[in-house]
Amino acid sequence: MGNSRQRPTRPTRPTRPHGYRFDERSRVEDMTEPWQPAVTVRRRPQTPPRPTGSRRGGTRPSRPLTIVLALAGLLLTLSGVLEIAGAMPWPFNAAKNGVALVDAFPTPRPTKTPTPTPTPTIRPTPTSTPAVPSGPLYIPPPGSYDLGCGPRGAHALPYVVRSAPATSAVALTFDDGPSPDYTAAILTTLEQTHTPATFFVVGASVRSYPNLVAREARDGFAFGMHTWDHPFMTKLTPTARAWELTSTLQALHSVLGPNFCVPYWRPPFDDYNGDVLTLTQAMGLTTVTWNVDPQDWASPGVQVIVNRVLTYAQPGSIILLHDGYFNRSQTAQALPLIIKGLRARGLTLVTVPQLLAGGH
Ligand SMILES: [Zn+2]
Repeated sequence: MGNSRQRPTRPTRPTRPHGYRFDERSRVEDMTEPWQPAVTVRRRPQTPPRPTGSRRGGTRPSRPLTIVLALAGLLLTLSGVLEIAGAMPWPFNAAKNGVALVDAFPTPRPTKTPTPTPTPTIRPTPTSTPAVPSGPLYIPPPGSYDLGCGPRGAHALPYVVRSAPATSAVALTFDDGPSPDYTAAILTTLEQTHTPATFFVVGASVRSYPNLVAREARDGFAFGMHTWDHPFMTKLTPTARAWELTSTLQALHSVLGPNFCVPYWRPPFDDYNGDVLTLTQAMGLTTVTWNVDPQDWASPGVQVIVNRVLTYAQPGSIILLHDGYFNRSQTAQALPLIIKGLRARGLTLVTVPQLLAGGH
C-alpha cells in the first residue's frame, strides 16, 4: 500500500514574511536542478607530426622521443584529474548554489561551512528500508507518515531558517544525539539553569537511547530530525532521502507518542539542494540550520567555544552545538559558561519554536 508515485505540486511563490530578508532570485522553485561541478576534461594532444628527414626514413620517432612523449601524456592526464578534483567545492556549500537562506541578521557566520565532521555515516539497513518506488521527486504518500502536529498539520516555511526576528532571544540547538556519554551531563546543566533548548536528533540514536529522548521531552525541550544516520542528503536517492526522515519520525514517535509534533529537520553537514527541500517541504518540515557555529565538534578548547558563541550571537540567533556521537566533553564544559554569558548580555534562551514565534 502507498507505493504510488506522485509528483508534488510546484511550490507556490512564497510570501515574504515580515522581518525576513528573502532573496527573490533563490526561491525554492528555482532550485530544481541539482548542482553539477564545472568539470573541464583536458584532452591529450594530437600525435605530433612525424619527424621528417630522419635517417631511418622518418616513419617512427626515436626511442628517447617515445619516452618523452609518454611522460608528457602521463603528466597531462594527471593534471586533468587534479583539475577535475579541484573543481569540486568541498565541502558542499549550499549558499553558493542558489539555495535560499534566510537570516534575519547580516552578521557573517563565524566560520564558513565546517570541513566534514567525522559524524556517523552508516548507511540505511536495506532490510529495514520500506519498499518505496524511486523517482526524481518522490514524496512519501501523506498517509505513510504523520508529523504528529494535529489536524492543522505542520506549516513548513518555504525557505531555510538560519535565524529569526527577535529582540532579545536566542536558541541553543544540539545535534547528533542523544549520546550515552554527554547528553545526560548537558541535560543536567540545562535543567539546573532552567534553559530551554532544541535537539536535532539522529534516528538511530533515538532508537538506542530512548530514555534520554524521553527526558528531553519531559523537560519541555523541542525536537527536530537530523536524519536516521547522518548522510549527505544530496547524495542519496529520492527514496533513501524520504526513508531517512520517515524512519527518524517513527523512532521519535515510538518514544514520545504519535501526537508529539516534530515539524523541523536539519540537514547533516548543512548539505541540501532544491530536490531535498522540495521533499521536506512537501512533508511539512521546516528546514532549520544556524547562524552561529563555534565548531565545537572540532574540540577547539572550552574557552574558544564559549568566546565564539558570545562573540557572534545576536538576538534571533540559532546557535549550533553538539551533544552526540563523538567526544563532546568540551561542549558539555562550555555550556554553563555559554548560558551565563548569553544571559549576562541580556539574551533570553528559548527553543526554536519559541524563537520562530517571535521569541522575546
Ligand atoms: Zn550533525
